[in-house]
Amino acid sequence: MNITVVGGGFGGVKSALELAENEHNQITLITDKPDFQYYPALFSTATGYRHLQSWVPLGLIFAGKPNIRVVLDSVTKIDPETKTLTGASGEKYEYKKCIMALGMVTTFFGIKGLDTYAYGIKSAEEITRLKHQIYKDVAEEGKLDKHYVVIGAGPTGVELSAALGVYIRALCKKFKVKDHSLCIDLIEAAPRVLPRMSEKASQKVEKRLKKLGVKVQTGKMVEAATADDLVVSGKHISSHTVIWTSGVANNPFFTDNKQHFNLAKSNKVEVDEYMKAGKDLYVIGDNANTPFSGLAQTALHDALFVTDNLKRQHKGQQPKQYKAVKPPVVVPVGEGWAVFEWHGIVLAGRAASMMRRVADFIGYSDLLPLGHALGVWRASYELEDDYFVSTPAAAARYNK
Ligand SMILES: Cc1cc2nc3c(=O)[nH]c(=O)nc-3n(C[C@H](O)[C@H](O)[C@H](O)COP(=O)(O)OP(=O)(O)OC[C@H]3O[C@@H](n4cnc5c(N)ncnc54)[C@H](O)[C@@H]3O)c2cc1C
Repeated sequence: MNITVVGGGFGGVKSALELAENEHNQITLITDKPDFQYYPALFSTATGYRHLQSWVPLGLIFAGKPNIRVVLDSVTKIDPETKTLTGASGEKYEYKKCIMALGMVTTFFGIKGLDTYAYGIKSAEEITRLKHQIYKDVAEEGKLDKHYVVIGAGPTGVELSAALGVYIRALCKKFKVKDHSLCIDLIEAAPRVLPRMSEKASQKVEKRLKKLGVKVQTGKMVEAATADDLVVSGKHISSHTVIWTSGVANNPFFTDNKQHFNLAKSNKVEVDEYMKAGKDLYVIGDNANTPFSGLAQTALHDALFVTDNLKRQHKGQQPKQYKAVKPPVVVPVGEGWAVFEWHGIVLAGRAASMMRRVADFIGYSDLLPLGHALGVWRASYELEDDYFVSTPAAAARYNK
């Protein structure tokens, strides 16, 4: 079989790996980045831990898989009639069968100033920009009296706000900054943190966040941002570091090519019971309008489902119908503490934190050979000093 996979994330990489098990299959994976992004670890990389846990080169994942060819390009158009994709490079790619998993993009919901002034943590560039601002605050100014605001109390906002204080206090220690006063706000429009989890889980997490010194403000709408001010439900908060973890929207590829897709209200793609969106065209993961879309485990589940059906089809067997599976959710909230939820069971504390460590290891080993998976997983325990001290004053403090 010749199969084209678009997107080098959870769904795309898993699909390519599954199909590559048959050496007669030829897989072309078109993606716009040379690395696989392990999003669940981004908050950890943004707060001082090694970036290997968050960006794994595709070359490492596909080493020893000669039947996977990676093409670096951003796909902009599709013509399902002629089964042709067009890349931003102008190159055209004909496909026999195609699996698309392009993931989501950040949206600021049109809130004035956020696109210019807010920090994000969804890419290497955004994380580097945020970390350098924090280093500047601590190392170069030599005193810290700052207000950090995290917007969005979904899993990423909760994970980040809980880890931020520990990280900044560790930096203050490293640069011998004794004079510090730190305020971390977590702002959420919904009436509670982790609104997609149960109330019980929300309450436990809110209590834990308060214990960690995070000021939780729920039911509050962010209205505008400037370089040092944020308007929240009509009130001004003075802050020069606002971190946006809130909005995601479906990849614009699908609205740009909407004449070829049936889009739901959310702009996600409606797929049939085999995850098809057209002839020999499959849409999976975050892009597909399925009940648990938006989670890494769903993207992996979808990849397994579609590739299994392709294998069955190849053998002349009947394809199976899609069954959505609710994955367990584990959200870490500071060192050694997490909340776990699955089918009404809520667990909070150290045991849940260990479950998250195990889940991350399983996540990596799903995509990498065991030795590499172990190395990448261990990277999440190791701190990374990636800042080049840029002023004599900061260097003096560091070397003191
Ligand atoms: C910060 C953050 C934290 C998260 N934490 C968790 C968590 O703890 N647990 C959990 O289950 N889920 C988590 N998620 C959600 C999870 O990461 C996604 O559900 C998952 O990545 C979806 O997989 P996917 O293959 O659909 O898309 P992705 O993994 O996003 O992959 C999309 C790929 O397509 C590429 N691409 C995009 N556009 C194009 C184009 N036009 N042409 C070519 N290539 C393109 C991208 O570069 C990327 O490689 C998190 C998400 C974020 C943003």
